[in-house]
Amino acid sequence: MNLLLIGPPGSGKGTQGERLAARFGLEHLAAGDLLRAEVENHTELGQQVSELMKRGDLVPDKLIIELLIPRVQAAVAANGYLLDGFPRSVEQAVEARKLAETAGAVPDAVVYLDVPRAELVRRILARAETEDRSDDNPTTVENRLRVFDEATRPLIDYYRERGLLHEIDADQDADAVTAAIVRVLPD
Ligand code: AMP
Repeated sequence: MNLLLIGPPGSGKGTQGERLAARFGLEHLAAGDLLRAEVENHTELGQQVSELMKRGDLVPDKLIIELLIPRVQAAVAANGYLLDGFPRSVEQAVEARKLAETAGAVPDAVVYLDVPRAELVRRILARAETEDRSDDNPTTVENRLRVFDEATRPLIDYYRERGLLHEIDADQDADAVTAAIVRVLPD
């Protein structure tokens, strides 16, 4: 099975991604984590994206797609992927679809984690107390939420029109959210 997990920052993509990947035996590919690893390792790619990430802007499509392609291919050759944080725009989705169709790697379902904005801000600023992420601060959070609304939110209709979307009320504790997702997914 191949799954996409989309949602605004703070919606619980990381937590749910880990749980679902473990439960269904999928490869958890978290776009933001992969990019942060590049920054931490001071790779050329890391240097290209670090300022954009600090500001909460999206990195160029080509960079994230090239980073993901070999990992998605490996995941598909195994038991499937759980992509968390990709695609983040309709343009990325269209490009990914073209690549996936030739590789037999199209998603089987898309899960959208819906959380009210005030709760997102609360969660992100709480996370800032425990995790050292350069983009979890009040200024950048505003920009990340704006980027989600402008670039990523249109994906919800895109996938709904294709009959792939499962909208989940993610304003609940993590266990309840996992249970709600598992209920809507095929076994
Ligand atoms: P995340 O950990 O998913 O919140 O992502 C952290 C940051 O990584 C985002 O604010 C973007 O700067 C970058 N990023 C993650 N996924 C993507 C993507 N699919 N396209 C472009 N930039 C991304």
